[in-house]
Amino acid sequence: MQNIKEKIRNIPDFPKPGIQFKDITPLLANPEAFKETIDAFRQLHEHDRIDIVAGIEARGFVFAAALAYAIGAGTCLIRKPGKLPHSIHRQTYELEYGNDAVEIHTDAFKPGQRILIIDDVLATGGTISAAIKLIRNNFDVEIAGVDFLMELTFLNGRQNLPDLPIRSLIQF
Ligand code: AMP
Repeated sequence: MQNIKEKIRNIPDFPKPGIQFKDITPLLANPEAFKETIDAFRQLHEHDRIDIVAGIEARGFVFAAALAYAIGAGTCLIRKPGKLPHSIHRQTYELEYGNDAVEIHTDAFKPGQRILIIDDVLATGGTISAAIKLIRNNFDVEIAGVDFLMELTFLNGRQNLPDLPIRSLIQF
């Protein structure tokens, strides 16, 4: 995990003052570290049946697609508003200032499927919480768990999340 952690770059004051942005592009560009990351996610689900790995826009897509390939699952896109072309379900959520939303295609899952959700960063937990509601309110599926590359533990995002297996490969 140290190899993975070292490849995450801190960008102070991005996208606004006071935020330390965790830039994963050096990790993605490094063949060993990227492979180690996907292998670590894969190991978490060795004895699990996952039908679809759902990625959250945009960096979640990178991990969702690679992990889905590695474990023989399908993948699905949970997107920001207005991006999906077919009929959608939407879940809004509150931000510090205003609202945002996540959307999913109405035919993203079949009844009974086991879904893993994945994103790069667990910060306040607002985004993942909305994604979980989006799935639970609209589909007869089981959420097997939620995986993150990293968790910003000082924000306590985990405490606002439902009782599900929530895993992060690294913590800051
Ligand atoms: P939150 O809803 O607060 O848990 O924020 C999660 C979303 O915002 C994730 O999709 C992350 O990609 C992004 N995010 C939040 N904080 C950071 C950060 N410090 N560095 C990079 N991405 C972040």
